[in-house]
Amino acid sequence: MRLSDLQIPRKWQTAYRSYQERTERIFAFYAAWLMLATILAYLFSRELRDAPSPEFWSIASLVRAPVYFSVIITLLAHYTGVPNWRPKVFLRMMSLSLMFSILSLFLIYARHWPEALSQVSEGLMISFFGVTLLATRGLRDWVIQFLTPLIIFGFVALLVEVPLTRLTPFLFGPSVMLIIGLVVSEIMRRLGKHQFLSEQEMKELATTDQLTGLLNRHAFLPMVSHAISRARREERERFCLIIGDLDHFKTVNDTHGHDVGDLVLRETAVRLGASLRQQDAVCRWGGEEFLILLPATSYDGAMEVARRILAAMSDTPVRCDDVSVQQTISLGLACFSEEDSPESLIARADLGLYEAKAAGRNRIGLVPAEEAVQAGSSLG
Ligand code: GH3
Ligand code: MG
Ligand code: MG
Repeated sequence: MRLSDLQIPRKWQTAYRSYQERTERIFAFYAAWLMLATILAYLFSRELRDAPSPEFWSIASLVRAPVYFSVIITLLAHYTGVPNWRPKVFLRMMSLSLMFSILSLFLIYARHWPEALSQVSEGLMISFFGVTLLATRGLRDWVIQFLTPLIIFGFVALLVEVPLTRLTPFLFGPSVMLIIGLVVSEIMRRLGKHQFLSEQEMKELATTDQLTGLLNRHAFLPMVSHAISRARREERERFCLIIGDLDHFKTVNDTHGHDVGDLVLRETAVRLGASLRQQDAVCRWGGEEFLILLPATSYDGAMEVARRILAAMSDTPVRCDDVSVQQTISLGLACFSEEDSPESLIARADLGLYEAKAAGRNRIGLVPAEEAVQAGSSLG
């Protein structure tokens, strides 16, 4: 994976946004403490001691008020959860207040205490660097949080007749820091993307069946547990499970070879996917067995899906070069009932599958919950 051309695939866009928000939350927290510490250090180490007059000091302190305000709100939100804004809002608020304060101070110093302008120049360096880092999502953020305040500052400087030529000698250091900040921020953004993509790929590897690209058993089971909790809370969240097992699949391997068998499994995955709705989930449960979760689906709805699956498999043979495999599937259906656990529900679907196989294959088997209990006790 190269750092220079990292693209977030469409399927991970939502996950990437939450990842960005998590990062921004951390950024906002540390930035708030750093800003508070830096600004207080400056205030007490320099200005308080050397300011030309108490009035000057009061005005300079007032200009810093928005920074304190934004920092306090950010820390409050971090420790109490109130206000519950998106972290981006805090970053923007802190950046804009910092730009407002430092640029205003620059003008105030230029007019009333020009001998000390180099002090503000240091503040500008730190602020330009910091605000550039806080533009976590790139150019658009940077234009809003940095460039816009800077342009407004240029106009105000003209308006209050502070000659820009007097200021430019103090802008060299901050400009250098700005460029360094932009580079560091871009590197951090790319590293963040890289880390996100690596994590997603690892996650996908751990939750996906490599042959078919479907979910694996490990990723699927928590979805069933989740569906059960939702169904217990709400009547309309009742759902069904379908287990599918390819018919006489061993013969396919024995007759045409393992590679053709693999192709049939892949094609089955595609056909199952095409027979389902977007909210349904399908996994490769084992060798040639598939498990399908149909959230918020009644018995009738599930029967309809099951019939669609049977037709999708039996209507068209699977072609591989010059070989054509007529592959059918048997299905077991189970719909959620109040006492179900993931295991009992899957076991009931399995019982249905057993009946479908026994009845001649290429069909749907269904064992209602009450009968499954009886079957279980007579087996036990
Ligand atoms: P039934 O109709 O009773 O289900 O018969 P069957 O032949 O499908 O049942 P059985 O369980 O005896 O055979 C399953 C076969 O699936 C055996 C195994 O070789 C094959 N199989 C399991 N995993 C894979 C795989 O990843 N690739 C291939 N090609 N075959 C697989
Ligand atoms: Mg089997
Ligand atoms: Mg089979």
